[in-house]
Amino acid sequence: MIVVMKVGSPEAEVARLTEEFASWGLSPETIVGKHKVVIGLVGDTVDMDPLQVQEFSPWIEQVLRVEKPFKRASREFRHGEPSEVLVQTPNGVVPFGAHHPIVVVAGPCSVENEAMIVETAQRVKAAGAAFLRGGAFKPRTSPYAFQGHGESALGLLAKAREVSGLGIITELMDAADLDAIAEVADIIQIGARNMHNFSLLKRVGAQDKPILLKRGMSATIEEWLMAAEYILAAGNPNVILCERGIRTFDNQYARNTLDLAAIPVLRSLTHLPIMIDPSHGTGKAEYVPSMAMAAIAAGTDSLMIEVHPNPAKALSDGPQSLTPDRFDQLMTELAIVAQPLGRWSLQPTAAIA
Ligand code: PEP
Ligand code: MN
Repeated sequence: MIVVMKVGSPEAEVARLTEEFASWGLSPETIVGKHKVVIGLVGDTVDMDPLQVQEFSPWIEQVLRVEKPFKRASREFRHGEPSEVLVQTPNGVVPFGAHHPIVVVAGPCSVENEAMIVETAQRVKAAGAAFLRGGAFKPRTSPYAFQGHGESALGLLAKAREVSGLGIITELMDAADLDAIAEVADIIQIGARNMHNFSLLKRVGAQDKPILLKRGMSATIEEWLMAAEYILAAGNPNVILCERGIRTFDNQYARNTLDLAAIPVLRSLTHLPIMIDPSHGTGKAEYVPSMAMAAIAAGTDSLMIEVHPNPAKALSDGPQSLTPDRFDQLMTELAIVAQPLGRWSLQPTAAIA
């Protein structure tokens, strides 16, 4: 249930109502928007009559029910305003959201050694990326495939962060690694395979680092938003949703089916920022640029692009990784799409190394 307060409602009245709702056994969450204050009520509200709730204060403008099973993630919970996720990086705060420039995240699938991660960081930084991605713990289909270098790779990410000033995104697979990952990551990734790992979702919901929640490869949009709801319900409001391709009947030419329709669908359902990963979405480097441009045209807030200094020698996901040179070119192409939409903060020439 959503309680929309009138413009200019006194803070003391909002506080009084919040206390009142808490005394009914509900969890009230006050959201201060650009124009209005909204109090989101989560809990057993089925038997509550919105008109009766409205009578509790002359400052209440409207009381609405959220019909969707996801409450905190729903667009209504913010009264239609998109939320922003502000991420602290060594280079300052990077905002993700519908009212902000496109944020580009780039880097290798896996952190392989110091030279490659530092070189990649410097190249993608020069091209205009704001975050370096790279897996230390890799979720591989085969137990015999490269599993990532683990903790030692976290040290290499810390080094790349220090040298480049980029924010770091890396995947958490096991709650036991949370503290070590949180030490270096500015955003913690929950991968497609763990989108349904509810205990892990609760765990990352109970800590402060922003979360990049990738869509499970066979997850419906509602299941994905319910996974986000787990993180939000546990207390972490900073969740970014990443579409990375889903399984369909056809994987003959592309690894997955990149669901770009998810962008307008999510926009209508949730206030959370959106990221598109055309690298895992297509599985082939040659298809990545067109899908990245399409994603911007369709309204994504951010992109994740796999980049490797030598894709032919990559220990994982080489076929879908761009070279740093191709990434430079892609950034100039993305600028052409994003600039007229008012969503590019880099100078047109900044992307040329
Ligand atoms: C990744 O980002 O390297 C990764 C493993 O992604 P996903 O979970 O989408 O497969
Ligand atoms: Mn990968």
